[in-house]
Amino acid sequence: MIEASAAVPPIRVVAPATGELLAEVPDEGEAGVARAVDAARSAAPGWGALPLRDRAEALKRWRDAILDDAGVVRTLVAESGKPRQEAEGIEVLYLCELIRFTIRAARKALREETRHPFLFLTKKTRLVRHPLGVVGVIGPWNFPILNNAADAVAPLLAGNAVVLKPSEVTPLTSIRLAEIWARVGNPADVFRVVTGRGATGAALVERVDGVMFTGSVATGRKVAARAGERLVPCVTELGGKSPFVVLASANLERAAEAAAWSSFVHSGQACIRTERIYVEEAVAGRFEELLVERVRALRQGPPDPPSGEGPDLGAVTFPRQLEIVERHLADALVKGARLVIGGKRRKDLAGYFFEPTLLLGATPEMAVMREETFGPLVAVMRVKSAEEALRQANASHLGLNATVFGGGAEARAFARRIESGLVIVNDALVNYIVVEAPLGGWKESGVGVRHGIEGVRQWTRTQAITVRRPLLAPVERLVAKFLAFPYDARVLAVLRRATRLLYRRGLAAKLERMPGDGRP
Ligand code: NDP
Repeated sequence: MIEASAAVPPIRVVAPATGELLAEVPDEGEAGVARAVDAARSAAPGWGALPLRDRAEALKRWRDAILDDAGVVRTLVAESGKPRQEAEGIEVLYLCELIRFTIRAARKALREETRHPFLFLTKKTRLVRHPLGVVGVIGPWNFPILNNAADAVAPLLAGNAVVLKPSEVTPLTSIRLAEIWARVGNPADVFRVVTGRGATGAALVERVDGVMFTGSVATGRKVAARAGERLVPCVTELGGKSPFVVLASANLERAAEAAAWSSFVHSGQACIRTERIYVEEAVAGRFEELLVERVRALRQGPPDPPSGEGPDLGAVTFPRQLEIVERHLADALVKGARLVIGGKRRKDLAGYFFEPTLLLGATPEMAVMREETFGPLVAVMRVKSAEEALRQANASHLGLNATVFGGGAEARAFARRIESGLVIVNDALVNYIVVEAPLGGWKESGVGVRHGIEGVRQWTRTQAITVRRPLLAPVERLVAKFLAFPYDARVLAVLRRATRLLYRRGLAAKLERMPGDGRP
């Protein structure tokens, strides 16, 4: 039962496509966070002590029930304004795939290992992975499953309890997923949702043993700073300004199709979406023609029409994005860009809609090429060469995702030189769902990763337990003299000789040799 704090007004959750009030949820604040984290902390040891198989079963039960619950997608579409095909084809599909992979990854990530020390050959060290305890997940408004509840999957499988604070703009999907978690018989306190505004998120950071944060660079910096002060691990996945590069060797049809989709998916409100396009001059005319054709064909409207047909673009979830789009557009036009499609809010629709907007003739000093837009506006800049494309692509304080279209070897070589945690060649965006690969931004796009085996192990503490190998006890007594009181000049002399013998030209030096060492 969620209680509202008397002093803080409830949060009004509004459907961005219609302006209709969907629900009011409490801002639970510090007191709500304390209740949720305390309950999670009590539940965590029991959950962490279960065999991985049992935790995996709980996650699968949850996934199956989510797939059976028509209300999940309905809620997600209503509160985010995104087309149903994106709700199902990106968010729900992602959650299913993530659970499948993470169960397998957890087997490897949590497996105990033995290490055999080189120096202390009489000993062996066992690595044991313990959960952290309670992990706080803080999510943004653009992907109510993918960057919110889905981020609970790895910490849960690693044996932690999770408290999720979704964005105040889109909390309803998270609430529903937590209800389903409990409804299928999973321990309710192991996965809890607290609703609230920014201060509620900040209160969560104060109490948990690890933080997974997805959101803006500005908030991520504050969260990471506080987690740093508390000395708890913190993963931040922040903004992006993803470049899309079209080399002269590219398949232009395919590049234009991918550029249109990756720029306007969820009306441009995706961290890894294409934010700026660079095309080599030699093919720019044809590429722009093809892109204009595709953007012109986009259908925009209410996200879940009774006919089930379309649209391609729904609403803008967060009205502040409309202002950013307008500011970037105005700035680009003053600086000489050409508006070829779109450019206005849709007055004919009830909610927050902005036409898919395409600019040509962009230049580097325009805000649209430098700052995160995160809305249905994209700009194309012509470049003289692949080298110039690379310089422009790398001229950013962000480095989350990048796309390059071009002939195989050239595009692959180009990809390695882009300063970005994710790069995709001759396709776009689907690399987010390659859950096998660690996903993490470079530069100010964040620290740490989600996905991969790394994405599970980071929610554990490794304990290294070193023990004696019983059969080697006599040797150990000999070695122990080096590191024991009383210190003795003769022992020191032997130690010094032994160290030189071992490392200067001895066994260790042999082991350090690299292939090719010693060749002229
Ligand atoms: P914000 O940073 O504004 O908010 C993110 C979350 O943090 C929200 O739940 C917010 O609550 C909460 N919050 C706000 N202030 C604090 C605080 N001081 N301490 C703790 N939590 C706080 O981001 P947006 O919701 O606006 O999301 C958009 C941003 O997210 C974009 O920059 C985008 O690039 C990035 N993003 C990154 C992704 C990635 O994987 N790298 C994926 C998706 C988005 P409330 O909303 O209630 O204020």
